[in-house]
Amino acid sequence: MGNMRAIQVSKRGGPLELVERPIPQPGAGEVRVKVEACGICHSDVYAKDGTFPGTAFPRILGHEVAGVVDALGPNVSGFKPGERVGIGWNGGYCGACDPCRRGLFFGCENVRRITGIHRDGGYAEYVCALASALARLPADLPAVDAAPLMCAGLTTFNALRNSGARPGELVAILGLGGLGHLGVQFAAKMGFRTVAIARGADKEPLAKRLGAQVYLDSAASDAAAELQKLGGARVIVATVTNGEAMSAVMGGLALAGTFMILGAPESLTIHPGMLIGGRQSIVAWYSGTSIDSQDTLAFSARSGVRSMNEVFPFERAAEAYERMTSGKARFRVVLSMSR
Ligand SMILES: [Zn+2]
Ligand SMILES: [Zn+2]
Repeated sequence: MGNMRAIQVSKRGGPLELVERPIPQPGAGEVRVKVEACGICHSDVYAKDGTFPGTAFPRILGHEVAGVVDALGPNVSGFKPGERVGIGWNGGYCGACDPCRRGLFFGCENVRRITGIHRDGGYAEYVCALASALARLPADLPAVDAAPLMCAGLTTFNALRNSGARPGELVAILGLGGLGHLGVQFAAKMGFRTVAIARGADKEPLAKRLGAQVYLDSAASDAAAELQKLGGARVIVATVTNGEAMSAVMGGLALAGTFMILGAPESLTIHPGMLIGGRQSIVAWYSGTSIDSQDTLAFSARSGVRSMNEVFPFERAAEAYERMTSGKARFRVVLSMSR
């Protein structure tokens, strides 16, 4: 079948290297996807450093994949060559184990494989994936726009739509980075009274442009108190990874409000008395599975939600990865096969 170019990490913590590898053959239940674009996510650091249990090397990273179905393995139904698809963090599921039968597909006991960690991902010309891991791409959504929506977009969209907040209610998005800049757009387009919280007055124009009705500068004011002046937040979606920043805004919840954790700090201080008195909840949210990604993509295409991306040619993956880990990217970094 020939070879393909791929960006590989050969050993734990090793560099991203451009290598030639045989084009992979799809196994049972798998499709092969010709990659058009792949986002670089902060979680790719776990893969490169081998910190996630079960990571093996060499490994091709990347779980924000957009491309075209190129070939089908045995026993695949529902997809055909030429269809545009995305592949995300969730590597698929079996549909037969107890968690799957309860609808908890993310907890599948038979397919515990994360794309780009336990199996090869999208920093390559071709990637194989289980058909259950595929999301359909809307025709009018370019691959570089779709790719970051497969993780950062999915995580915020799916958290918001499962948050219990209803249109018109106050929803606050903590953080205005890769996840937060999408979360603000989704919250506004879903009809929530959207508040963006970040550090620094300079971010206010961006927050407003993304659809926030109110911007709170947590460096200059007590964001929790400001939220209470607005009536309290029905939901606060925390996209940051700083536990102190999370704890500082929790007091902004309305009665029976929900604090959603999307970013993973090392630890988090909570005040149980406050939560009990306000009958409030803290929940963590797993991004989602392939149908959730598909819904994210469709909603984004229709409503105009877009990730702001810095696009790099595939060959410059190592430089693009550095850019992402520097924290300076505005806001997501995407590898494109065509430029
Ligand atoms: Zn990710
Ligand atoms: Zn299962």
